[in-house]
Amino acid sequence: LMGAIVLSKEVLYVGTNAEFAPFEYMENGEIIGFDIDLINKIGEKIGKEIKIKNIAFDGLLPALQTNKIDLIIAGMTVTKEREKFVNFSNDYFVANQVIIVPENEGTIINMDSLKNKKVGVVLGYTGDLIISKIQGVNKVQYNSAPSSIMALKGGNIDAMILDSAPAQSYVAKNKGLKIIEIDSEVEKYAIAAEKNNENLIKKVNKALEEIKAEGIYDELIIKHFN
Ligand code: GLN
Repeated sequence: LMGAIVLSKEVLYVGTNAEFAPFEYMENGEIIGFDIDLINKIGEKIGKEIKIKNIAFDGLLPALQTNKIDLIIAGMTVTKEREKFVNFSNDYFVANQVIIVPENEGTIINMDSLKNKKVGVVLGYTGDLIISKIQGVNKVQYNSAPSSIMALKGGNIDAMILDSAPAQSYVAKNKGLKIIEIDSEVEKYAIAAEKNNENLIKKVNKALEEIKAEGIYDELIIKHFN
């Protein structure tokens, strides 16, 4: 059949921000983590080579919209606002926000006690949105979770807000910090594609289903969360 040959792209460019352990982070100059393994498995399922691009978190959506990347996997929470710009896959991880404080901090016990405190957030993260809803918080924005952690350790801020799994990872690696659990809304992480790329999201969803059914998902959880 003439014209029946559709040249489909062999490579999928996937944007992430490698400052979010254990989902994506740098080790020995390489980007690794749960999300990276997961997207490579998805690539295998849909027959595409995955090439990861490390981009600032707040540059991920613009990169997708300008076709510099085909997908985002970055521990990215599905939000109403983001849904205006991208198509999300089915969710692959459920998370929540927590507060990180110095170990000797005793007055910060919940969100309300953050009033009049200097609280670090990462620019454009959902934690940034949540803290903006509490009045009287002295919010300090950082470009990355590590820089907010540094500020907290240096006493420049009283607390910071971060997703639970990365928070645990940072607290484990940095002495003198502890986590305060809060009643935050549940957040769902999903993979994003460009608005008109329905077809790609369908393939990603099918691959995700298979990866779960075959036990690969559970293996990745065990590998990265222990
Ligand atoms: N889950 C948070 C968000 O979507 C943080 C994600 C990240 O830093 N990679 O805003």
